[in-house]
Amino acid sequence: MGTAQQAAGARQSLIRESNLGLVLRTVCAADAPLSRADVAALTSMTRSTVSRLVDDLVSTGLLDEVAPPTGRQGRPATPLVPGTRWAALGLQVNAGYLAARVVDLRGRVVGERLEAQDLLGSDPETTLVALGDLAADLLRRVPSGVRLVGAGLALPGIVSVSSGVLLSAPNLGWSDVRPADVLAASDRLGGLPLSIGNEADLAARTVAEEAPGRSGSHGDFVYLSGETGIGGAAVLDGRVMTGRHGWAGEVGHVCVDPDGPVCRCGSSGCLEQYAGKRALLAAAGLPLDASPSDLVARVEAGDPRASQAVDRAARALAVALAGVVNVLDIPTVVLGGHLGEAAGVLAPAVEAMLHERVLSGRWVRPRIVTAPADPAPGATGAALRELAAVLAGPAPWTDRATAVSGP
Ligand SMILES: [Zn+2]
Repeated sequence: MGTAQQAAGARQSLIRESNLGLVLRTVCAADAPLSRADVAALTSMTRSTVSRLVDDLVSTGLLDEVAPPTGRQGRPATPLVPGTRWAALGLQVNAGYLAARVVDLRGRVVGERLEAQDLLGSDPETTLVALGDLAADLLRRVPSGVRLVGAGLALPGIVSVSSGVLLSAPNLGWSDVRPADVLAASDRLGGLPLSIGNEADLAARTVAEEAPGRSGSHGDFVYLSGETGIGGAAVLDGRVMTGRHGWAGEVGHVCVDPDGPVCRCGSSGCLEQYAGKRALLAAAGLPLDASPSDLVARVEAGDPRASQAVDRAARALAVALAGVVNVLDIPTVVLGGHLGEAAGVLAPAVEAMLHERVLSGRWVRPRIVTAPADPAPGATGAALRELAAVLAGPAPWTDRATAVSGP
């Protein structure tokens, strides 16, 4: 083959790779199943090109063909949906639990294991080995034929995504930990590559992206993840604004009173010292293992101490969030975790105070919405991030799949 022919061949192959991704993302982004003709119309490609690409994606299981709707005139088109044979492992360590989940390309949780544990000030290695055991147990139950593309781990702290190092997680008491090393040494993940991320950034992803490649109901929002501490993320146009080093969004450590209580991060008067789960329950006179619904019940029953704790938390949330909204012009706040569970008693007061404190509140009233109840959204977000890599460039995966299933 001549050089010109080789160049043309390489160009063709690049075009095919890019078009494969475009077809896959178009089907994943759709709210309802698409036909090949729908995909051709949406991508401005010819029917025959789309059909060839769809055949490749269907044969590798990245897309599935489902039964056409009955009762239509003529030859019905076969609807296309994201495949169920591709999935990712999402893991999460939080101060109160370990979680492992398998999420498929349709965004369904096909298996999960959650284990409540008090991990405040825990040993990183013991905890990560326990997480590996949980994951290994889950992976044994994944149906055969499901192909895992990778594993992601959500952690409550400052993370260096590129080097895979958790720099600091104040509530866990961990610093400078490389989870991939511990998990690889214990060989619990069956050789799956592991990436790590901040739990609030990953949890926010589940609000922005309701399934891999499909937008959720909010594209611009500030997310607060209420766990033992409070994590945060700012999302614009469906993307988490990570900042220069990936450390943006630490709303839990925004100071609401410099003379306030000392925080585990070393500062004082941080938001999480007022509205973090432990702080809130302790101020309400409830045991630390009580649930946010116990707190809500006390407030609704007229318990003055619980009401006072909620008022104090609402005020702290409003002060911190007003600063965030004034700076970023993102007037929707999504509350997750315990903050979402207590939103019934917290949100009205926070919303009213935000309206007063946000300069632009006259034109666009800040609003508080609640994230869907989910014990480990960071684990799902971590899996979504792994699946996003397949959507961004499916060609290597389809080639690998061919190599595995070929003669
Ligand atoms: Zn702090």
